[in-house]
Amino acid sequence: MERRAKIVATLGPATAEESVLAQLLKAGADVLRLNMSHGDHESHRSNIALVRRVAAQLDKQVPLLLDLMGPRFRLGTLAEPRTLRRGERITLGEAAHAVDLPVDDPGFLRHLREGERVLIADGLVELEVLAKRARKVTARVLSAGTVSTRKGINLPDTRIPFSVSAKDRADIAFAIAEGADWLGASYIGRARDVETLREVVREAGHEIPIVAKLERAAAVDHIDEIVATADAVMVARGDLGVEVPLHQVPVLQKQIIAAGRRLGKPVIVATQMLESMMAQPRPTRAESSDVANAVFDGADALMLSGETAAGRFPVEAVRTMARIVLEAEAYKLKLFSVGYPSPDPRLPEGRFPTPAPRVLDDKAADGAIEIADVIAAAAVHAASKLGEGRIVAFSQGGFTAHRLARYRPAVPTLVFTTDARVARRIQLLWGTRPILLEQEVQHREDLIQVVERELLIRRLIRPGECIVLLMGYPIQEKPLTNLLRIHRVATR
Ligand code: PEP
Repeated sequence: MERRAKIVATLGPATAEESVLAQLLKAGADVLRLNMSHGDHESHRSNIALVRRVAAQLDKQVPLLLDLMGPRFRLGTLAEPRTLRRGERITLGEAAHAVDLPVDDPGFLRHLREGERVLIADGLVELEVLAKRARKVTARVLSAGTVSTRKGINLPDTRIPFSVSAKDRADIAFAIAEGADWLGASYIGRARDVETLREVVREAGHEIPIVAKLERAAAVDHIDEIVATADAVMVARGDLGVEVPLHQVPVLQKQIIAAGRRLGKPVIVATQMLESMMAQPRPTRAESSDVANAVFDGADALMLSGETAAGRFPVEAVRTMARIVLEAEAYKLKLFSVGYPSPDPRLPEGRFPTPAPRVLDDKAADGAIEIADVIAAAAVHAASKLGEGRIVAFSQGGFTAHRLARYRPAVPTLVFTTDARVARRIQLLWGTRPILLEQEVQHREDLIQVVERELLIRRLIRPGECIVLLMGYPIQEKPLTNLLRIHRVATR
């Protein structure tokens, strides 16, 4: 059986060696993430060069997700760590104003209001704003703890307009120059924040699909609009678990994944999935269950952060995650004998009365029926009826690949494209294996020959099995998918 949910692995010092990176990819890492909160352009550039080299050696389409730091607030420089006691009054503000806790970029202070909370060091320390002046605030310590230089600050109650920092702009220019395949957008609060970022990329004359990270309390009331606007979303449980009470995180994870499924956008579940593997070669039982449950929730991809970037067992972490995902998916397949369940995650678990996937939203923006979506649903239905073989799509821009993935086909999906960038991007999609074609094919019958030959050479199909083929016809005009054909591979 082939794994369907994808694995995103974060690069870092632990993956800087060619042999480790090669093992990481062989173990099952599908997408590699560069975290721009750490490292400089030089180190990221050398990581990217390494990835491209190893990917070429292994003949794999390896997309890079460049994760922007976003409008992150931090403490400034403290001469020494400071222990804050419960009930104590302290000042927070510009370093020049003789405050107890200086901040890195004081711009956010003017948005704070009395009674709002300031969380420091992943929520370890909690303050309540008592009074506000132009360049500093007075606050009471609600939760005690020790803070030090450059610890992160979260403001879960404060309305702060989204802005693209100078660092993010420089990182976007870097992403464009280096050909990043996905852009991670941190601290998104509303759909318009995604648009703002998209505009910055567009101004530079480019398009990079955006993964909106859901991690702010402010985003929780706007999940649907953010999911609808972004190209993919991430349940960024690290910051989310600081900004909202931890007991709400599992339910939010389910809600965000459900929104992604409903709106046809891939969802990545991130942070602390196998955290103990930073130091141990085996995960805890709870971590193993967390990975499996993200699969049961319907996630498209699961992410490893410190586990691969800075842990002692990066390759084992990927291998472990891949194994847990496979087991969970095998169970899910057994449960739903006709293939994967209806794309509507609100339906109860169990067998569904009809194996036909319901067309989720078959209207394009102008109200016309979206033919590619109808054909994708029909192909998934046909494949589940056949119960064998492959779905194969020709997808110039990746649109049909997205549509197919959203219907969770029971058989693996192979997507042929002549565009290397599209081949890399769609690697993030659930159950999708991209195949890069070196040459354009001009005629329908040639195309079928090419597919059959490639699949046989790669041992992705056996003689006598069926291929459910989707393509745009006539090929030369490059229309969106409008043709579905079932082809049985000849027995020799
Ligand atoms: C998170 O907060 O869970 C996350 C993935 O973001 P980062 O690692 O960039 O803080």
